Amino acid sequence: MTTCHETVPELLSQLVAGDTTSLELTEACLQAIATHDEAVGAFLHVAGDSARETAESVDRRRAAGEPLGPLAGLPVAIKDALVTTDQPTTCGSRMLEGWTPPYDAHVIERLRQADAVLIGKTNMDEFAMGSTTENSAFGPTRTPWKLDCVAGGSSGGSAAAVAAGFAPLAVGSDTGGSIRQPASFCGVVGLKPSYGRVSRYGLVAYASSLDQVGPFARDVAGAASLLEVLAGHDQRDGTSVDMPVPRFQEQLDRPLDGLRIGICPEHFSEGLDTGVRETLEQALDVYRRQGAVVQEIELPHSRFAVACYYLVAPSEASSNLARYDGIHYGRRAEDYDGLLQMYSDSRGAAFGPEVKRRIMLGTYALSAGYYDAYYLRAQKVRRLIAQDYSRAFESVDVIVSPVAPTPAVPVGQLANDPLQMYLADTYTISANLAGLPGISIPAGFSSDRRPIGLQLLADSFAEDRLLRAAAMYERETDWHRSLPPLDGDCSP
Ligand code: GLN
Repeated sequence: MTTCHETVPELLSQLVAGDTTSLELTEACLQAIATHDEAVGAFLHVAGDSARETAESVDRRRAAGEPLGPLAGLPVAIKDALVTTDQPTTCGSRMLEGWTPPYDAHVIERLRQADAVLIGKTNMDEFAMGSTTENSAFGPTRTPWKLDCVAGGSSGGSAAAVAAGFAPLAVGSDTGGSIRQPASFCGVVGLKPSYGRVSRYGLVAYASSLDQVGPFARDVAGAASLLEVLAGHDQRDGTSVDMPVPRFQEQLDRPLDGLRIGICPEHFSEGLDTGVRETLEQALDVYRRQGAVVQEIELPHSRFAVACYYLVAPSEASSNLARYDGIHYGRRAEDYDGLLQMYSDSRGAAFGPEVKRRIMLGTYALSAGYYDAYYLRAQKVRRLIAQDYSRAFESVDVIVSPVAPTPAVPVGQLANDPLQMYLADTYTISANLAGLPGISIPAGFSSDRRPIGLQLLADSFAEDRLLRAAAMYERETDWHRSLPPLDGDCSP
């Protein structure tokens, strides 16, 4: 029976060999969604009809021997922060509910050119603000491994979709960990590219200097194949870098001899769950057995990362979200008396509490009299954090750390405790502040079978090294082959 649980290389070779068709694969994904997504909550919109049409046309073209794109016939789920002409885009917010954008994001164009099957839009924290997907206006996403726990966030729907076999590939965005952390909570691979590697054109902006689009897959090769399609220069994003995209997949099987791994002692200290710590230590042993050298590095400013991020990101968000005023963009209040009341009623009714909190924090940090004390200082700290990493990468190839302090947390645990939610981002946000690529790969489970990810970071635009280092671990382990017990005993 065809399922979307296989890895991308396996599925592509089955398609090429004629052992399955894109339509069969798409139907299998749609069937899995119909059966299980009520419990998981991964999708906000399922594009069944258009997915079938694309799949049929790819199958026809394959049968006719026509040339096909690199992801031909593979279903891909899309975070609802990316605009799509043929599917609604809500960004997890009532503000954009019912909106179908007039253009495609750059990465959507790339996916269409690659002959991927766009199967639907996935759930997320409202405007990508959060770490559990509970800030979505449309309900939480649960990790398919344990349905009373969150999928992580903000790209929780994309991570859960891949974990549950709703799609072999998914696209997310990562501003402070939103690809890597849900990948860890859902037991899949998630990669945040270097800032500038993937165009942000058509990604609904949260914090523009931190946002990056990236792939989710079951394994490293899948993430590499999707990254090859997403990455590349685009003139419509001024921060998109004009440099060649390596053929990441071709390099994957080449191990990195004498790999130098940096670890930061503070990452293993207080507050880290013991299961996560043990998983990390075992992972380092897997590397050591392959000849890697593990050495301590110093990242002296990383303890300021949470404070720095929670000034920079909300400041940019307060500016970016000004466009949702009921006129330029967004839902307009029905009854109002004058322009100001229209603005405040529209924004007051359509934004959720976390988005309002960020707008207020950011507006405060940017206001006259506070700008120097908060925003400007945070920018200086950001520079120091980036310099720490540049120095560290003079002596190591990759840095290994936890992704999150704990495995997936129960639904509700962090929802009303924003400070705890912010603190839990401590391991992921520095990569965004410094613009570095980072990956989370499945590395084990807690005693109650919640997945635990391993984070690897590399220097800017060293995704090839990052992926090869990740593949070295994956070849020696089979965590990425474990499937969640969706039919089993983890009922909500
Ligand atoms: N949890 C972080 C935040 O709430 C990161 C979110 C993200 O990467 N989009 O801002």
